[in-house]
Amino acid sequence: MKLPEGVKMTPMLRQYVRWKEAYPEALLFFRMGDFYEMFFDDARVAAPVLDIALTARDQEKRIPMAGVPVHAVETYMGRLVEKGYSVAICEQCSEPDGRTLVERRVIRLVTPGTYVPEKSGRDGVLAAVAPAGAELSVAFLRPATGRLEAGTFPSGEAMALCASMSPAETLLPRTGPRGVEELVTRSCPGTQVVERERASFDPGDGERRLLRAWGLGSVEGFGLRSGDQAVGCAAALLEYLEETQYAAARHVRRIRPLLQGRYLHLDVTTQRNLELLEGPGSTLLSILDRTRTAMGRRMLRSWIERPLREVDAITRRHDRIDVLRADSAMLLTVQERLAACRDVERALGRLSLGVGTGRDMTAVRDTLRAYPGIRDACSGTLPGGDLPDLEPFAEVAAELERALAEEPPRQPGDGTMIRQGYDAELDEYRSLGFHGDRWLEEFAAVERERLGIKNLKVGYNKVFGYYIEVRNTQKDKVPEEYQRKQTLVSGERFITEELKGFEEKVFDALEKIRERERTLYDALVERVLALTEPLQELGNALAELDVLAAAADLAWEGGYVRPEVNQGERLSLRGARHPVVEMALPDQPFTPNDVELDSGGERIAIVTGPNMAGKSTFLRTAALHVILAQMGWFVPAEAAVIPVTDRIFTRIGARDELDRGQSTFMVEMLETANILHNVTEKSFVVLDEIGRGTSTYDGMSIAWAVLEYLVAHCGCRPKVLFATHYHELTDLAERCREVVNLSMDVDERADGIVFLHRVVRRPADRSYGIEVARLAGIPDQVIARSRELLQEFEEGQRVLEPPQRRRVARGGQMRLLSVERDALLEELASLDARRMDPDDMLKRVASLTRRSRRVLREGV
Ligand code: ATP
Repeated sequence: MKLPEGVKMTPMLRQYVRWKEAYPEALLFFRMGDFYEMFFDDARVAAPVLDIALTARDQEKRIPMAGVPVHAVETYMGRLVEKGYSVAICEQCSEPDGRTLVERRVIRLVTPGTYVPEKSGRDGVLAAVAPAGAELSVAFLRPATGRLEAGTFPSGEAMALCASMSPAETLLPRTGPRGVEELVTRSCPGTQVVERERASFDPGDGERRLLRAWGLGSVEGFGLRSGDQAVGCAAALLEYLEETQYAAARHVRRIRPLLQGRYLHLDVTTQRNLELLEGPGSTLLSILDRTRTAMGRRMLRSWIERPLREVDAITRRHDRIDVLRADSAMLLTVQERLAACRDVERALGRLSLGVGTGRDMTAVRDTLRAYPGIRDACSGTLPGGDLPDLEPFAEVAAELERALAEEPPRQPGDGTMIRQGYDAELDEYRSLGFHGDRWLEEFAAVERERLGIKNLKVGYNKVFGYYIEVRNTQKDKVPEEYQRKQTLVSGERFITEELKGFEEKVFDALEKIRERERTLYDALVERVLALTEPLQELGNALAELDVLAAAADLAWEGGYVRPEVNQGERLSLRGARHPVVEMALPDQPFTPNDVELDSGGERIAIVTGPNMAGKSTFLRTAALHVILAQMGWFVPAEAAVIPVTDRIFTRIGARDELDRGQSTFMVEMLETANILHNVTEKSFVVLDEIGRGTSTYDGMSIAWAVLEYLVAHCGCRPKVLFATHYHELTDLAERCREVVNLSMDVDERADGIVFLHRVVRRPADRSYGIEVARLAGIPDQVIARSRELLQEFEEGQRVLEPPQRRRVARGGQMRLLSVERDALLEELASLDARRMDPDDMLKRVASLTRRSRRVLREGV
């Protein structure tokens, strides 16, 4: 690291530079007393992000500096990590003595994927991806809870999984094929790629490392093959976590296998289109979330991200929801008691990574306190009653009750972490260290009496320790053995040998309290960590119970029914409602609709109808039912039969992705291409408005051809809901028995149209665009003229006049230019300046400049 000109290298700066050079990518938090300081560029970068003052360490202001108080480090660190920065914590590891330089050392590197904040929230996910022959191996680790999953898949499926996990960081082998990095950054746009040595991913070495750490003989017990690249990926993740945290990740105890064909795949586009987890308003997650614990909330999210495909596993969840729903009193009790449980999984993660606090210990204690009541409430009723036995936890639970203060501090040392009566030795030190007041009072009384100094006081201050204070008016009565300590305006302060002896005893006791309490606390943490695995299982079981109870609660209150999920070909929904939209319509009832799609019969429905009539809502309702049913939830319908689906594809509305260098139409076509390439017999496709981003004839032709392809040429029989404004497409239903026309019913009255939101089995008779324009408040004059023109066009009386015809021709030219513009943007976005040869780079830039100028010249 090069220091700015004129900065004098001091021993402290030398120490700083050494650590900064070891962690060039991270912001270095350099501990100085009660602050973590940042210097130079780190300070300049972090100050505005954290909204803290940028000061300077030297008068000439050559060493910019910004600091955060130690007690608030978590908050500041959280903000930086959220913005994608990494933070290296450089701690003081010797006591300052005023003479020698304090020793410092980096004790933790906090990165976006490894950060485990104190409060529950969205925890980071770390991913690792490595090629395995023609396939890709992936592994995912949640550092907060220690959940480690791994598997090997064809690349499409691997990337779909990656996308659904949205990892904060993804580890890749340094010398791996470049294509993998491109795939990863395309599928997970928010991830930070971290290159690691190839050896880190070695499956043989990795397996040996993991087995040694876990004291096991084989990975086959996890359902993984020895030598599987996925095991190498899992080991790479664990190594990275331990390396950055400087701690053994003892809470990572096993690998859960990810198996092919096990999950319903929802790519990021679909997650976003269906507003599953995030959206401007309510989302599926927010409507379903009736969980009472942070563990349950986390599990619910993962169920939405990854619904199942195995009928048995789905049925098991349905069975348990059924039981909970049938007994509302039990459900209420279970939910009430669950509310007292805390996040055990995270607490174990934080404790084993060495960043745990007293709060994490109480999380374990409070959960163990609540657990017997929960088990009691559902004992014997839950099918497959897989709540763990109480017995393995009994001792630790009792120990925590006896030892841990009800509301302990973050760290031990001040004597308030451990309860009175737990340890005789600690109690003795505490009575000495904390209860000296009586001794002091007696001492003062004796001195007042002995010396006849009425206003003699005994006190304590941090700088001078214990003292006897005598007012100036009584100074002449002070005996010889009083040694002066401090002079005040109104009096003097003294110490005596006796008081000194007391002071030493107190200080000694405080030091002993610190040591003893730390020892007792560490032993307690150790006892909890020794139960890591059973406690994790308990956390998992409680999380699952919480999600199932939430499902039962919503089913009971919201009128959800148990769907039948089978391996068949027919999707049938009766009286289906949109779970989110129905909640948003407090004043008017939601109109339920039916859906019938059968891979062996009518499997493609073309949905027409005016804008705002409810087409999108209808399409999404069907897709959400498939997701809910395969999550193992109940559905908002009167009855539902759902055939197991492997992927839901969606192309909905016009989303602008200019930030990704793609025009709206380009995004629409990319999404459509993805669907047409990957659709299978068991897929469910939702296409809302294909071909809207271009001219009418272009758009209609594309929509028509896409539909034809799905009818006859994709080599399989997916189920498709296809909403469109192009009425011409409804003709297809006449010719293909697999296609059916549906439309949104409207009531035409003298004063305009009323949307009934009811789906009927016929095409819309016209498009009602002008009606909608009128409802939107377009001036009457324009509406009247539109009607006139429409009539003329429909009767073939009006053709486009020559000037307009020229505009159409120019429109063609404009489209060509827009394609070229997209191509230019794409090419620019795909350049990787770091890896390019400078000559090639110059040539490419020259070509891009030439082509851009042409587009600009001809486009305006
Ligand atoms: P566009 O073509 O403009 O996208 P659309 O036909 O897809 O319109 P939606 O966006 O699905 O229409 O629905 C418009 C509004 O109508 C919704 O926001 C909702 O308030 C209401 N709505 C839709 N479906 C129903 C329903 N089944 N019952 C009651 N209200 C509904």
